[in-house]
Amino acid sequence: MTALASFTVKTSRKDEWINITREVQKITADSGIIEGICLVFVPHTTAVVTVNENADPDVPRDVSLALAAVSPDRKEFRHSEGNSAAHVKTSLVGPSVALIVAGGALLLGTWQGIWFNEYDGPRTRTIFVRVLGESA
Ligand code: ZN
Repeated sequence: MTALASFTVKTSRKDEWINITREVQKITADSGIIEGICLVFVPHTTAVVTVNENADPDVPRDVSLALAAVSPDRKEFRHSEGNSAAHVKTSLVGPSVALIVAGGALLLGTWQGIWFNEYDGPRTRTIFVRVLGESA
């Protein structure tokens, strides 16, 4: 069995972190799939989805600082839109995460959350979720 869902988020700025764990957990529960895989995919080139700590807000802040150091704005960039630093961060982090569904729920660590990261906001962004596996 398989289920496909999507939802949108409105971002307000660059380097914004939006916790989407609750939305993805609800889509997984509503799918009726008990054992399987949940794929979260972002169809954008300057935004990503990632799994990281959801307890200390300094973690997202520190990751953003580190990514800014790895991919700063550079005068040598040619892309006319002027957001090449955001495109580089997107390539580094990637557009998707695959999660295990066990017992009808996402198998996440105690400190893990699913985060949408905006690198070029404000924008309205789409998140696709495909849940695949065995239903009850
Ligand atoms: Zn661009």
